[in-house]
Amino acid sequence: MKIPEKMKAAVLYGFNDVRVVERKVPLPGRDEALVKIAACGVCGGDIKIIKRGMPKQPPFEEFIIGHEYSGTIAAVGEGIDEFKPGDRVVVEVHKGCGRCKNCIMGKYTACLNYGNFEKGHRANGFTTNGGFAEYAVNHVNTLCKLPDNISFEEATLATTAGTSLYGIDMAGGYISGEAVAILGPGSIGLMAVQCCKALGAGRVILNGTRDDRLELGKKLGADNVVNVNRENPVEIVRELTSGIGADLVLVAAGMEESLQQALEMTRRGGEIVLLAHFDDPVTIDIGLAVKNGINIFTVRGEGRMSVHRAISLMAEGKIEGKSLITHTFPLENINEALTTFMERKDNALKVVVHP
Ligand SMILES: [Zn+2]
Ligand SMILES: [Zn+2]
Repeated sequence: MKIPEKMKAAVLYGFNDVRVVERKVPLPGRDEALVKIAACGVCGGDIKIIKRGMPKQPPFEEFIIGHEYSGTIAAVGEGIDEFKPGDRVVVEVHKGCGRCKNCIMGKYTACLNYGNFEKGHRANGFTTNGGFAEYAVNHVNTLCKLPDNISFEEATLATTAGTSLYGIDMAGGYISGEAVAILGPGSIGLMAVQCCKALGAGRVILNGTRDDRLELGKKLGADNVVNVNRENPVEIVRELTSGIGADLVLVAAGMEESLQQALEMTRRGGEIVLLAHFDDPVTIDIGLAVKNGINIFTVRGEGRMSVHRAISLMAEGKIEGKSLITHTFPLENINEALTTFMERKDNALKVVVHP
């Protein structure tokens, strides 16, 4: 594969200032591969970086954003025999340092050396350059082979699905026959619906405010959907579970109301997992959790190789990402892609950019 010297990349020049410019194609070092990017999804995380930044991010005018990408291996560095040029791959964001307590335990998205390049930590699109570009360098740990029956576009949802799977893991993992309530029908919530069903959950109840997304949730396997603007989600979840409440509640909307509703709709002794990020402090009646013996777990993105499991489920047709993709844009139009996502133009859900 012929590799050019220069590439186009979306670089962050300052807050709310993303420019498509020419950059040098990076070279893979030891245990790294160069990925020729085919598709990169826009995520809420990108918007946060653009609007207000994140700790440990590379400096303005250098930082190439984007973290949900897929493509083809263009070259491999020393020490890699797991992949060869031409292999189709999807990436996961976090490459932990591999030496801290959390990394050794598989919790590498919570690496104790987060952002420490010297210690080997990488989070492409957060602390190192990412995927809104023609090429990116990835550590072998962050590469996952992509079967031929999954498109590059669809693969951009692997991390989203992986986040749901990791959340379910954290709560104990066993959900066969259980009642699950999911709050927030965004990309994570909709992938979570499918993951729960694929893992044998009983009733899955999806809650949200947008009818089009709830309808899609139904198509993707939700047994019940609740529009929280019109109906009381706590009452409905209790009704549908013989008054007991959901065994597991996945919070995929980072808002105070969602968290309070989660506390009120979880079965006594049940579990809540926070998949969403919360931008602001929230006030909730946490005493309900203690009184009812409800355990609350959190995950930061994907972990324990959950992206590999997500791809496996996708390859078997048990989950899918195609129906979530509403818009695609060429890299040159990245700003239009970001605005479309941010303002949810034309009911935008998943927006994918092609370099
Ligand atoms: Zn993301
Ligand atoms: Zn670590």
